[in-house]
Amino acid sequence: MGRIVLLEEHVANKIAAGEVVERPASIVKELVENSIDAGSTRIEISITDGGLSEIIVFDNGSGMAPDDAVLAFARHATSKIRNAADLENILTLGFRGEALPSIAAVSRLSLKTRAAGAVSGTGLVIEGGNTLNSFETGSPQGTLISIRELFFNTPARKKHMKTPNVEAGHVSEVVNKFAMGYPEISFQLKSNGRILLKTPVNSSLRDSIAAVYGAETARDLLSLEAANDSARLWGYIGKPSLSRASRSHQTVYINGRFVKNRIISEAVEKAYHGMLMTGRYPLFVIKIALNPSEVDVNVHPAKTEVRLLDSLDLPEFITEEIAGALCSNRLIPPAAVPKKTFTGIMPAKPVQEAWEPKFNRPVPEPDSVSEMPEVDYCSASETAASVPYVAAETETAARDMGADPDPGFPWLRPIGQINATFIAAQGMDGMYLIDQHAAHERILYEKFMDRPEEFTVSEQLLFPVTLELTHQEAQVLNENIVILADLGFVVEHFGGDSFLIRAIPAAVVKNGAKEIFLDLLDYFSHNRYTISGKALKEKLLIMMACKSAIKANDRLGMPEIESLLNQLADTRNPYTCPHGRPTLIHFSGYDLEKMFKRVL
Ligand code: ADP
Ligand code: MG
Repeated sequence: MGRIVLLEEHVANKIAAGEVVERPASIVKELVENSIDAGSTRIEISITDGGLSEIIVFDNGSGMAPDDAVLAFARHATSKIRNAADLENILTLGFRGEALPSIAAVSRLSLKTRAAGAVSGTGLVIEGGNTLNSFETGSPQGTLISIRELFFNTPARKKHMKTPNVEAGHVSEVVNKFAMGYPEISFQLKSNGRILLKTPVNSSLRDSIAAVYGAETARDLLSLEAANDSARLWGYIGKPSLSRASRSHQTVYINGRFVKNRIISEAVEKAYHGMLMTGRYPLFVIKIALNPSEVDVNVHPAKTEVRLLDSLDLPEFITEEIAGALCSNRLIPPAAVPKKTFTGIMPAKPVQEAWEPKFNRPVPEPDSVSEMPEVDYCSASETAASVPYVAAETETAARDMGADPDPGFPWLRPIGQINATFIAAQGMDGMYLIDQHAAHERILYEKFMDRPEEFTVSEQLLFPVTLELTHQEAQVLNENIVILADLGFVVEHFGGDSFLIRAIPAAVVKNGAKEIFLDLLDYFSHNRYTISGKALKEKLLIMMACKSAIKANDRLGMPEIESLLNQLADTRNPYTCPHGRPTLIHFSGYDLEKMFKRVL
């Protein structure tokens, strides 16, 4: 007798659930995808205990006719494709017909739905895959699905759930991605009754990003808009100053679907090369539209991965466009103007004559009033960052954020040095502080990178520099003596662990040679097998730029300051040093007035 049997449908569904329904966030993802595919303009999600007790998704989409509502829970039941050929041209988020039966197999589910134009709606109750009840009921147009006691019948999976807080975090991440992916749809997410996110209908992408990351972050974004023969690319990328310690603030959508794709992330990061410190990652929200026949979305049951055709040259296109956006936009961070009152530095009991106890008095001089921008920068940024997004604030933020003009590097008239470390300059609007070291580092870095051969050429030292090394350092030196020669350092053994530096790269200042050389050895000993050729040369040039640049506490005369600012203006990326730190900070006239409480 044969030993193979066909599994019963509800067993098969439970198995499928293992792939599709990993945790509450995956259910929210599937249900919201269905709501979007149903043409909803409003989607409300509510979770209790991170979704472990209950998940509700409510939409105003097409709804389902009574027969469809029942059929939707059958395995491989879908309204989105009809045949295999349709897989080549997927325009919906769903297509596998697996989500509803899988979810119903591992939870207690109830549904209410009414199709447009139908007089009454349909109700369904399904527990662990068994339909307990189906009935006619009143319902608004659209669909409401409630999932209670997730994994009540799959204890092994239930054990793997994290705390409700962690699960709520995953849910919130998923809803955030939808909100940024579909700014035209209004999303609301509630967790234990508290609103975590609320976006209005027909909002802009920038406003949706503000709702997720806060208006402050949204203000520091550069917009992106490009197209070639096979792709359209748009969205927002963070200025280097917005860098994060992980890749969690990177979102990529391909044809409306958020996807994880390392090749694309790397292509974006490549464009930030030389602007961010190692271990820092850019923030971005980018969208890509491709011909659906060129993307394979059927790679993973959760549909979070896609396969792209190599022939699209997408990575190159992305790197180029983003590098372009980073160059052409002004990257100067504004001064961090205190937003609240200066309670910290004011005397505990204000002296009445010194200032008004209430800080809401308007500015006295009429001419400075006329220079004031209409928008209250601070109130927009304070609210949206910490509390749920509200439509009224959107407008303030939107006006404030507008498209990025490309004003180029600002005109600067130097005023002088501060603490022998910063340069103060007057600009068209307000004051700029320039970090003299960071600025010089940027100038040298670009000079060196543009003509590496010229700057790694060896120059003989009149008096060789003697090095007394430790045994280990001597060993590292011996291992790398050829690479060092290629970089321009000519070194000679001098007996024991002593060496002579006979020639140094042209880029290195004579009296810094020993220090740079020792740093290089140190670098080699820590990165023995991880670095090669071009990257190493670049590393050395960054190091040389850093070591050769003027330092904090170096006094500069006015001609030197002027020359420094002119050279900075001539660089391709004058706004950050090669490590990603800002070279200059802007205090607008408005910022200054605000700090002095001339405006509020
Ligand atoms: P898929 O999305 O892959 O088609 P699902 O199991 O997620 O598979 O859903 C099955 C079908 O149920 C869908 O094709 C759709 O016709 C219907 N459906 C599910 N959710 C909704 C909804 N919120 N509004 C309208 N129809 C829905
Ligand atoms: Mg679906």
